[in-house]
Amino acid sequence: MKILSGLTLEEITEITDELKASKFRAKQIHNRIYLKSVSSIDEMSELSKSFREELKKIAAVTETKIKIKQTSSDGTIKYLVKYPDGECVETVLMRFDNRSNLTACVSSQIGCAVNCSFCATGKRGFIRNLTYTEIIDQVLTIQRDTGLKVTNIVFMGQGEPLLNLDNVLKAIDIFNNDFQIGARRITISTSGIIPQINKLSDYGLQSTLAISLHAPVSEKRIKLMPIEEKYPLSKLKPALLNYVKKTGRRITIEYILIKDFNSDIETAKSLALFLKDIKCNINLIPYNDVTETGYKKPSNNEIMKFKYLLEHSGKKVTVRLERGSDIDAACGQLSGKEKKK
Ligand code: SAH
Ligand code: SF4
Repeated sequence: MKILSGLTLEEITEITDELKASKFRAKQIHNRIYLKSVSSIDEMSELSKSFREELKKIAAVTETKIKIKQTSSDGTIKYLVKYPDGECVETVLMRFDNRSNLTACVSSQIGCAVNCSFCATGKRGFIRNLTYTEIIDQVLTIQRDTGLKVTNIVFMGQGEPLLNLDNVLKAIDIFNNDFQIGARRITISTSGIIPQINKLSDYGLQSTLAISLHAPVSEKRIKLMPIEEKYPLSKLKPALLNYVKKTGRRITIEYILIKDFNSDIETAKSLALFLKDIKCNINLIPYNDVTETGYKKPSNNEIMKFKYLLEHSGKKVTVRLERGSDIDAACGQLSGKEKKK
C-alpha cells in the first residue's frame, strides 16, 4: 500500500501513470493532500468514483492517527499522534490572536539523546528518528483535523532536529514546495550541534536557526545541557559567527530563565557580552515547570529587568508567551507521556 502523504508531485505521478491516468489527476491528488488536507481518497470528490476505487486498491492518504487531542483555553491545540509502529509524538498548533499566523510546533525525534536537565523529552532518552514523512504528517494531521492551513513551522517539539538533519531538510523541502510554506516561515531550534550548524552554513539555509543557549558561561551551561561538554560555548560562538556570515540570516537565541540560576543582572551582562558580535534576536523563555527538577521561573519583575538589560545592549528581545500551559503544550515542553503500548 502506498501512503500519499509525504509524496511529491513526481511520486504521485508515478502512481497515476501506473493506473494509466493523466498527469492532471496527479496534480488534483497532490492539491487535495497538501492544500485541502483530505483524510481519505473518498473525499477527493473531483476524481471519478471508479478512479477512486482503483486508487484505493493501491494507496491510502495516511496511516498516522490522533491518539489524544487537548484544546487549551487560549486556543492552542496539542495532539498526540500515533504512527503505525505504535510510537507517539506530540505536535502543537498555536494561534496568535493578533495575527493570522497558525504555527505548528513539530517533533523531529521520538525522545532525545541530549538529555538537558530541564526538559521532559530528554528524560525518556532517545528512541528513534522520525522519517520526513512522519514529520510532515504531523502538520497534515493538524490541517486535516482543523480544516485550517498551517502558515508557520517551528521544530521545537520533541527531539534534536540537527541529529536528524537529513529528514528535517527533506521535510523543509516538502513544506516549501508542496505546502507552499516559505523557508523564512520555518524555524529549526537546536541545542547547538556544531558540525551540523556548519553543514547548514554551507547549505545556505534560509529558514531561521534558533540556538538554545540558556547560559552565557560554560560552568553554568553544563549544568543544564550536558552537550556543553562536547560542543562548548567557546566553539559554538565561532560556528554562529560563520553561520551569519555565510547565510546572511539573523539567528534567534533562546534563553530559558530560571530563578536564582541564570536570571540575575550579572548573568544578563555576560550574556550581552557573549552575544555582542552575533547578529541575533533574543527570545527569553520563563522556565515552565513540567518536570520535577526543582527549578522555578523568576518573578515578572526579574524577567523584565533581565529583558531591559539585554535591550540596552542593542538587541531585540521578546519574552515567549506561555501558550497552552494548562495542557502542558508549550513548545519544547512535551513529554510524549503516552508510551508505546
Ligand atoms: N531540541 C531542540 C528543540 C526542541 S526544544 C532544542 O533544544 O533547541 C525547544 C525549546 O524549548 C528549547 O529552547 C528548549 O530548551 C526549550 N525547553 C525545553 N524544556 C523547557 C522547559 N521546561 N521550560 C522552558 N523551555 C523549555
Ligand atoms: Fe533534547 Fe531539546 Fe530537550 Fe535538550 S531541550 S533534551 S536538546 S529536546
